[in-house]
Amino acid sequence: MTAPAADPWLTIVEAAQRLRGGEVTSVELTRASLERIRATDERVRAFITVTEEAALESAAAADELLRSGDAPSLLTGVPIGLKDVLMTAGVRTTAGSRMLDQLIPPYDATSVARLRAAGAVAVGKTNMDEFAMGSSTEHSAWFPTANPWDLERVPGGSSGGSAATVAAGQCVASLGSDTGGSIRQPAAFCGVVGLKPTYGRVSRYGLIAFASSLDQIGPFTRTVEDAALLLQEIAGPDPLDSTCSEAPAPDFSVQLGEGLEGLRIAAPREFFERNAEGQGMDEGVAAAVEGALELLAGAGASLDRGASLPSVGYSLPVYYVLAPSECSANLARYDGVKYGYGSRGGASMWADMEATRQEGFGREVKRRILLGAYALSAGYYDAYYLQAQKVRTLIRREFDAVFAGADLIVAPTTPTVAFRQGEITDPYQMYLNDIYTIPANIAGLPAISLPCGFAEAGMPVGLQLIANRNSEALLLRAARAFEGLGEWGLRRPSLG
Ligand code: GLN
Repeated sequence: MTAPAADPWLTIVEAAQRLRGGEVTSVELTRASLERIRATDERVRAFITVTEEAALESAAAADELLRSGDAPSLLTGVPIGLKDVLMTAGVRTTAGSRMLDQLIPPYDATSVARLRAAGAVAVGKTNMDEFAMGSSTEHSAWFPTANPWDLERVPGGSSGGSAATVAAGQCVASLGSDTGGSIRQPAAFCGVVGLKPTYGRVSRYGLIAFASSLDQIGPFTRTVEDAALLLQEIAGPDPLDSTCSEAPAPDFSVQLGEGLEGLRIAAPREFFERNAEGQGMDEGVAAAVEGALELLAGAGASLDRGASLPSVGYSLPVYYVLAPSECSANLARYDGVKYGYGSRGGASMWADMEATRQEGFGREVKRRILLGAYALSAGYYDAYYLQAQKVRTLIRREFDAVFAGADLIVAPTTPTVAFRQGEITDPYQMYLNDIYTIPANIAGLPAISLPCGFAEAGMPVGLQLIANRNSEALLLRAARAFEGLGEWGLRRPSLG
């Protein structure tokens, strides 16, 4: 029997209160999380690996700390999920790929080590598109994950498992990674909060690399306050990652509660209009997002609908040159020799390497490697890679110009609600999912998706807020204030 106070639907803040008030122990809370996973994960399939024994051990250790009053953090004793792209010492880590079928890392990613040091209880590794390439978690080498709001729909991706586990009430929070939208898009599809921090804010040591100039680790939570707490634990300089900012992490929660009064929010036209091909938000999404803009204005923010990011429309093409280029370099290490899957017994070493990559990578990953190798090859480099870098600089500058006159930018997170499994087969259509999220990665900006309503078939809609570099505290303040204006975040899927 689960103790009634042990409810994996709790927020981090609520769980911390109950753990400190002695209403519940971490072992009870962790058992409840594991039971919920057992009861629902045959349908949701959020997890590749569940680490039941290790979780109960860390929970018992957390209870010791809580009893002696030495709990290092509000996360102490709280059950969380980890995207399978993060290295976990002694626990199989696959990045959703056959290539890493047997990888048992000897060390923890820094973000994971920091959560462990905080006393958080990792219950397992969540499903994802192979090497974080995808928008639906259908490109996992293992199995697809379902959206808890409608099991026939996708949870988004690539961090689909991390979004689904929070939405399904299996874990209190989780970590994902976002290269072009992989935290915010699944958060929007699953009706939870997802935050991509400023580029360089969180150490990537132990994050299996996809596109190094874009990748960031960030939290999935039920509330904005929880996102601030989780970010606090993982952010800040790391001697093990030279690409991590040396600026110490500020207190991300200081401005929570300050409200929207006086904030200047830009709603750049390009995010709200249909482009030349007639692409834009679906009606239901547009209605929810427009409603959100009215709420923001009604709560004291000033809304600038005249703002413009003229080159933002090139973000998607820029991304699909840069991300594949970087991935073709990063994934060159999977050659069957150093680690991971290795095909043996071919006519030569080269034949084995070829077979390793042929058998170890899925179709989407191969497509990206080919695209990237092409874009970087002699004669094409200037035409594609260099050109994309120039446009990237242009986009960054346009964001800087908007932020000269605004505190925040508001945008939709996705053009549609979660689509049905198998519905999108054309890769380009799939890429269009990230049309609103990619610009923040291109410019290295922090951005959050939070629930703002429901549309077609009762599926959740996300609102995206984007802030200037290193302005997470302000971003979280506005997000927290918006969250208080409605109850969308409180609804739960009926699942089980
Ligand atoms: N969906 C995008 C892609 O396929 C973004 C993925 C990500 O953010 N990791 O590349």
